Amino acid sequence: MRRLAELLQSKQISSTEIVRGCLERIEETEPVLNAFITVDEEGALAQAAAADRRRAAGEPLSPWDGIPLAVKDNISTSGLRTTCASRFLRNYTPIFDATVVERVKRAGLPIVGKTNLDEFAMGSSTEYSAFGVTKNPHDPLRVAGGSSGGSAAAVAAEQVPWSLGTDTGGSIRQPASFCGVVGLKPSYGRVSRYGAVALAPSLDQVGTLARKVEDAAILFSLIAGADPRDAVSAGAPGFPVPVWDDTVVRGLRVGVPEEFFSSGLNEEVEKAVKRALQNLADQGAVLQPISLPTNEYAIDTYLTLVTAEASSCLARFDGVRYGERVEAADANTMFAKSRGAGFGHEVKRRIMLGTYVLSASHYEAYYEQAQKVRTLIKQDVARAFQEVDVIVTPTTPTTAFKIGEKRNPLEMYLSDLYTATANLSGVCALSLPCGVDSQGLPIGLQIIGDHFGEELVFQVAHAVEESVGRGTGSEV
Ligand code: GLN
Repeated sequence: MRRLAELLQSKQISSTEIVRGCLERIEETEPVLNAFITVDEEGALAQAAAADRRRAAGEPLSPWDGIPLAVKDNISTSGLRTTCASRFLRNYTPIFDATVVERVKRAGLPIVGKTNLDEFAMGSSTEYSAFGVTKNPHDPLRVAGGSSGGSAAAVAAEQVPWSLGTDTGGSIRQPASFCGVVGLKPSYGRVSRYGAVALAPSLDQVGTLARKVEDAAILFSLIAGADPRDAVSAGAPGFPVPVWDDTVVRGLRVGVPEEFFSSGLNEEVEKAVKRALQNLADQGAVLQPISLPTNEYAIDTYLTLVTAEASSCLARFDGVRYGERVEAADANTMFAKSRGAGFGHEVKRRIMLGTYVLSASHYEAYYEQAQKVRTLIKQDVARAFQEVDVIVTPTTPTTAFKIGEKRNPLEMYLSDLYTATANLSGVCALSLPCGVDSQGLPIGLQIIGDHFGEELVFQVAHAVEESVGRGTGSEV
C-alpha cells in the first residue's frame, strides 16, 4: 500500500482512477466470484472525488486517503444497505456508521461495497448466504471459506486492495487461508464492535484482510483503539504501523502445539507449515513443543457459547424494528412468521440449539459447563504464553473444500478446529499464506499472539512472508 500511497502523493495516480480500476475488476470477476452483496459505485466515486480534492488542496486526511476498501456486510454503513447476508435484512439501511467504518472514513478510505458472508456470520464457507455462494478465486468450484468469504475473495481477486471482516470463531483467518491472503483477528477489546452486528459478543472481533502483512497492519492501525461505545473495548492505545525488524525472529520462542498437528490434518498442509517453522528455526527462532490439551474441547465449547449468545442477540430481529415483517392477526404470530420467513436454515438451527442450552433444565449441563471449560482453555493458553512468545499452527485442517462438499453441519463446524481457541481465550491471531498444495490451493499458517501482542504477531508474520517470498517454503 505504501507504493499506492506514494503514487497518490506524487499525483501519478488519483483516487478516482484507483476506484475505477476496482470497479472494472469487479465487473470483470463478479459474475463468477460473487464476493459482493452491494457495490456502491456512485458512493465510492464520490468519496474518491472528495479524496482527490483534498489531495489537490494539499490536505489529505492520512497517507492512505483515497485508497478504497470493501466492508463485510454485517458492519453498519450509514446510508448503505447492510444485510448480514440474510433475507431478513435484505432491505435494511443503517442510519449510522460502525466505529470502524467511521475510522476508515476519517482516514479518507472510499468504501467500494459490502461483501458477502454466511448469514449473520454463521458458517465457514459463505454457502449459507441468502445472496448466493462466494467462489474461491483460485478455483471457482471451491468455497472461499467463511464467514468473511466475500472480504477474502475480493482481496485475493484484486477487486479491492484490502477489506474488513469479523471473526468470532475463525471467520477472518479461515477464509484468508482458503483464498491465500493475510487476515488478522485482533485481541478481544482491541477494536470496537460498535455497529458490527453481533453474533456472539463474548467472542466477536472486527479485523483486517489484505494481500500483504504490512497492509493488514496498516488497516489495523486505522481501526484499533478504545471506543466508549463498545463496553468491552479495552483502554489499549491505538496501533502504530510496525517498523519491520526481521531480527525479531532471533531467539524468538515459538510454541508448536502437538494437538494442532494430529489426526485430521491434511498432509500437504502439515508439510507446508512445518517447512515454514523450519525456516523460522533457521533464522534463529527456538521451536518449543507445547501442549494445549483443552483444544480438544474447543469446538464443543465454542458451539455451545456461540449458539447461546446468538439466540439471545438475534431476538432483536422480531419484525418490529428491523427488516422483514410478515403481517398476522396478533403480535406473537407476527414475530414467529417474520422470523420463520426471514432466517435461513443454519440461523434457525443455531437459535434452536442456543435456546436449548440456555433453557432452565439444560443450562447447567451445557451453558454453564461450557463456561467452565472456556476458563480451562484460557488457562491453557495463558500457561503457554509463559513459556513462549508466539504459537504457530496451521490455520485450517485442509485447503479450500468443494462447494456443496460439507453437507453435515458438524463437518462444517470442524473447520474452526484450530481457530476457535484464540476467540475463546481472547488473544490475537493472524493467518498468512505459507505455500500451495499440489492443486495450487493456498495453505494458511496461523500465528497466535498473547493479549495485545499484535505488534509481535505482525513482525513474525512479516518474517515468514519474506522467507516464503524468497521461495523457501512456498512449494510443497
Ligand atoms: N465458522 C464459525 C461458525 O460457524 C465461525 C464464525 C465466525 O467467526 N463468525 O460459527
